[in-house]
Amino acid sequence: MKIGVLALQGDVPEQRRAFERLLGPGAVVHVLDPAGLSEVDALVIPGGESTTIAQLIDQAGLRTPLLRRIEGGLPVLATCAGLILLSARIEPVPGLREPVPLRVLEITVRRNDYGRQRESFEAPVGVEGLEEAPFPGVFIRAPRILSRGPKAHAIANRGDEIVGVSSGRVWGFTFHPELSDDPRLHELFLSETLGWKRQSQKTSRTATKSPTATATKR
Ligand code: GLN
Repeated sequence: MKIGVLALQGDVPEQRRAFERLLGPGAVVHVLDPAGLSEVDALVIPGGESTTIAQLIDQAGLRTPLLRRIEGGLPVLATCAGLILLSARIEPVPGLREPVPLRVLEITVRRNDYGRQRESFEAPVGVEGLEEAPFPGVFIRAPRILSRGPKAHAIANRGDEIVGVSSGRVWGFTFHPELSDDPRLHELFLSETLGWKRQSQKTSRTATKSPTATATKR
């Protein structure tokens, strides 16, 4: 399995590390052009500066190939700026130049809606499929999802607010799961969209049946 990280700008190394931790070295490649995109089984659109990433997508000739692959069912994990780029509409903010979005997720977003860098924060997030414990959400100059249409399914919430949506195999979050130490969201993405299962999960499930094995493991 090959996971591509769109490596034009943004927190590329952090996403790479998060996936390598689960899949091992060599499982993650940087996507910089259409040829690179055609080789991957899933794509990460990282956080960063959405205006810059959008410009670089166009310069690299990636807009149409990206849309084609997404239409063809490519799993995509998008965070923060990535989510902005996948949105249907970006509510203008005075003084900010808005990128042209890819219009894949049926949501309207407003950029930097919680404030500047210093107003970045961490807050517990509820994620569908990770009900056993809240997920530590790291919000950095995060966008806010202002509204969504019926095709965007809410998969993450912070209180009453939706902070993550999915549409088929395309997942987007306003926070940065790659910046917390919790691998569960990346794991969930891989298992739900690609049918991947962590090897050691099987081992530890077997191990819990046997007290001796559990003791040895610890
Ligand atoms: N504020 C950035 C933008 O609008 C997104 C921030 C992020 O990705 N952490 O593009």
